[in-house]
Amino acid sequence: MKVDVEKARQDTYDLCIVGTGPAGIILALEYQKLQPHHRVLLIEYGVDGTPPRNPLDDSINIVEPRNHHLPYECTNKGLGGSSASWGGRCVMYDEIDFKPRKILDGQCTWNSPLLHEARRYADRAAEYFHCGEGKFNLAEIPGLASSRIAEHFQNGDVTDSVIERWSLPTRFGKSYRSQIEASPAIHLLTGWEASTLGTRPEDGAVSEVGIRDLARTRREKIIARKIVLAAGAQESTRLLLKNRQLFKNQGSPPPALGKYYQGHISGKIASVRFHGDPKKTEYGFLRSPDGVYLRRRLQLSTQALLENNLLNTALWLDNPLYSDPAHRNGAMSFMYLAMITPGLGKRLAPPAIAQAFTKGKSSGISPHIKNILKDLPGSLTMPAAIFYSRYCMKRKLPGVFLYSQRNVYALHFHAEQVPVPENRMELAEDGETLNIHYKYTGQDIDSVIRTHEFLDRWLRQCKCGALEYWFPKNELPAAIQSISKDGLHQVGTTRISATADEGVVDDDLKVWGVPNLHVCSSSVFPTSGQANPTFLLGAFAVRLAHHLSAQSRR
Ligand SMILES: Cc1cc2nc3c(=O)[nH]c(=O)nc-3n(C[C@H](O)[C@H](O)[C@H](O)COP(=O)(O)OP(=O)(O)OC[C@H]3O[C@@H](n4cnc5c(N)ncnc54)[C@H](O)[C@@H]3O)c2cc1C
Repeated sequence: MKVDVEKARQDTYDLCIVGTGPAGIILALEYQKLQPHHRVLLIEYGVDGTPPRNPLDDSINIVEPRNHHLPYECTNKGLGGSSASWGGRCVMYDEIDFKPRKILDGQCTWNSPLLHEARRYADRAAEYFHCGEGKFNLAEIPGLASSRIAEHFQNGDVTDSVIERWSLPTRFGKSYRSQIEASPAIHLLTGWEASTLGTRPEDGAVSEVGIRDLARTRREKIIARKIVLAAGAQESTRLLLKNRQLFKNQGSPPPALGKYYQGHISGKIASVRFHGDPKKTEYGFLRSPDGVYLRRRLQLSTQALLENNLLNTALWLDNPLYSDPAHRNGAMSFMYLAMITPGLGKRLAPPAIAQAFTKGKSSGISPHIKNILKDLPGSLTMPAAIFYSRYCMKRKLPGVFLYSQRNVYALHFHAEQVPVPENRMELAEDGETLNIHYKYTGQDIDSVIRTHEFLDRWLRQCKCGALEYWFPKNELPAAIQSISKDGLHQVGTTRISATADEGVVDDDLKVWGVPNLHVCSSSVFPTSGQANPTFLLGAFAVRLAHHLSAQSRR
């Protein structure tokens, strides 16, 4: 139920969760099922009817914005957090992501048993995301196990059977508001920012959460036995950085706090030309028996990644750049013009997603108009059908992928980054501003290029196809640098580790040295893998609920 601050400050809560994005909401609902008599407080900074500006986003400084989206494009504030604008792509991490590897230079500080545990909670997480089952390989899905991405493709060093699943996309605020508001055990306090974490001198446990209102003029205190920071990666990290006293018993904050920030390096530098029957190429979505949209991802096997010292990367078939009228496709030209129309583009997709449609050099609108006229009426009927499936259905069409008679598709890569301490979040001297340093390293870029080369060799070996690059070889590094941007997937800055020297939280997501403080955010992932992080985060939130519940029974 919704509570005001007068009510919240009088209670002693069993669990206080800061933030109501997917992580906070899954944790609260799952915990409440396990411990129906416990009192849970959800503190949410955002309010309904999001104001155009807020002090949290205004005090984030992206130091080098070339490869990082601006703060307002990266997160949302309010019930449901950034799920208000997320795409809904649910992807699972792989075995390789948990393995120490030469290329990670000792920075893979978690372990494989954690992945196995997370998999135990995948079905439950999938229920919260409305994405069917927690299975991410076609081999496990009856009826889809034996098909291939294209004629002659062979599964081996490269696999085509790992899939992404698509959520509705579930807007967690909209989907779970009534359940939260109807629950007498879950209290929801909105419009307050958790800002300080007061500690007990004897054991360093958090004894109170200091909160302030949006105008930052009023301050109050919340008392809880256990506290979980689920405020998103940036804000969970900032809260720990601001509260150095938490680490007094250890002498200083964990050296890794705020460091090793990663996202993904992503874009298109090549097309793939398949040699077989174009009608046998699976270029679009598959549907699971329960109607969920699924899509294949091309990935290198664990062994191939280890042997070739490559970062984990997923690749999928895509359309050519919308902005380049050489695609000669009327529907694509129509959609491109819609996305660049001032006012309209913003309504069709959040800026970070709209960029996928609009990026590339513009060659003026007349060649696009020619494409539209040439393909009439399809140039208009196809976008209309897509618009209906994308905006009017409950389970929305997650994307638009068009058939190529020539059997040539753009290849979209989505790749891991090496965790380096220089990519970091740190507090400025004013004690409030979060400076974010984020760049792609030479190793990130080199791995993308070598992964393409590997895939090319594999396709040629199977006599399935070959890659056609969009740039001369010597221009590939600069092209990759210039097309890729992240900041939506935020990983690494409060990472899991076996010791306080290497990371910030332990395997149970408890902050090292603080007995009752946990972090539930993708910031705990030490590696970024090829996967968008939110699904694994959901599985970790379910797991944390079970862990905290079991702990309170002891
Ligand atoms: C445009 C876009 C597209 C994306 N697409 C995908 C995708 O397809 N697949 C995928 O896996 N991921 C995607 N993501 C990332 C995904 O949205 C995030 O990984 C996910 O929302 C993180 O969940 P969270 O609960 O940790 O944090 P958030 O969703 O960021 O929620 C955190 C909440 O905490 C609140 N808060 C922050 N600080 C405080 C404080 N001090 N006190 C109180 N409350 C606080 C915030 O207001 C917010 O509501 C996308 C993100 C964006 C922006």
